[in-house]
Parts: sequence; C-alpha cells; structure tokens
Amino acid sequence: MDNEVKSFSLWCNESGELAWNSKIIMRHSVIYPMQLQKKYKSLSLLTKAVSQGFLANKCEIKMKTAISLHIVCPHCHAINRVPQERLDASPKCGACHLKLFTAQPIELTESHFNRHLSHNEISVLVDFWAPWCGPCKMMAPAFAKATAILEPKIRLIKVNTEEQPGLATRHNIRSIPTLALFSGGKEKARQTGVMDEQDLVRWAQTHNTQ
Ligand SMILES: [Zn+2]
Repeated sequence: MDNEVKSFSLWCNESGELAWNSKIIMRHSVIYPMQLQKKYKSLSLLTKAVSQGFLANKCEIKMKTAISLHIVCPHCHAINRVPQERLDASPKCGACHLKLFTAQPIELTESHFNRHLSHNEISVLVDFWAPWCGPCKMMAPAFAKATAILEPKIRLIKVNTEEQPGLATRHNIRSIPTLALFSGGKEKARQTGVMDEQDLVRWAQTHNTQ
C-alpha cells in the first residue's frame, strides 16, 4: 500500500479541465503532468507545493491518490493489484478472470496459506477448525455468512487442522475453533470458542481497525 499520487485532475480557471497530456503553467516555467508526477512523488509533497504557491495560483489541483492493494486470488492464487475504490465493485483476477471475492470462505492448505497471509494487503481472518469438532461445525455457517459482510475489507480463510497439522503447530493452535486475525502477515487478535455471526462480525471489525 502506498500513497503515491497516481493521477491528477487539473482545472484552470481560464482554460477548463486539463488532461494528463496537457501542460500546466507553473509560476516560472511550463511543465507537463508526467514531470509534475515525477517531481512531487507523494501527496504531501504536492500538497505542500500547492500551498506554497509553486503551482500557478489560477490552477486548482485535485489529486487522486488511487491507493491500490494487493489481493491474492482465491482461485489461482495470483497476486492482483486492485485500486482501493474498486474493491467493492466485484473485481476480477487478472490471471484467471474469476471474482476475487465470492462471499465464501476459502479453504487453504499449507501450500498457499502463507501466500495469502503475507501478500494480501487486506486483513485475513482464519478459522482453524477440524471435521471432528462439534463446536467448529456449529460455527461454520456463521463464519460463512460473516464472509459476505466482512469482504472485501477482510479475507476469510478456513484451515482444517486435521489435514494441516503443520499450520496448526506453527500458529500455536491449542484448541478449536480458534479465530485469528492477521494484518500484514502478523497476528493482531485471537479468539477461541464458538461465536455467532453477529459477535464474529463485531469482533473482526473491532480488531481490524486497531
Ligand atoms: Zn485468479
């Protein structure tokens, strides 16, 4: 995630909207938007330049920061870069063209788990469960329903600890069901025991903002 300025919308009082390939009048020189982008690499630098009057004062600059996030595809596991404002618009994978969010949790094995944990730039909520565990099965429908609510801010993943004992050991899972919320590959919160849909959503949302 970064806050680099990806595009500018420029309006000048006299000449109307300027496009990327238009030139912008600076106080002492004429520069082109690409040069402007190069010169003021970050939003804060550009904002500073505007406030200090380095840009022609007749021009108003509206910046789009166009923050984009890495999202790992649940189908082919390709890493996609999705503009943040497009997250809610059913984005599709550039590699397999399937939807990046399906309102269903993803069942992952050892081979792809770390990729999702470390490359997703949204939080990842993992349900560590097992087929023999009654409470786990009881919570499964709530976890599935919560997915529809928590996506695309949070990716919901299921790990079958019986089939993936290595993952359970590595993440120190002592009892199940255990929910663990990760952000940037690091565990932020953990909850053991059954939660209903409402509590689960509230718990995830609360810890996701911290
Ligand atoms: Zn894909």
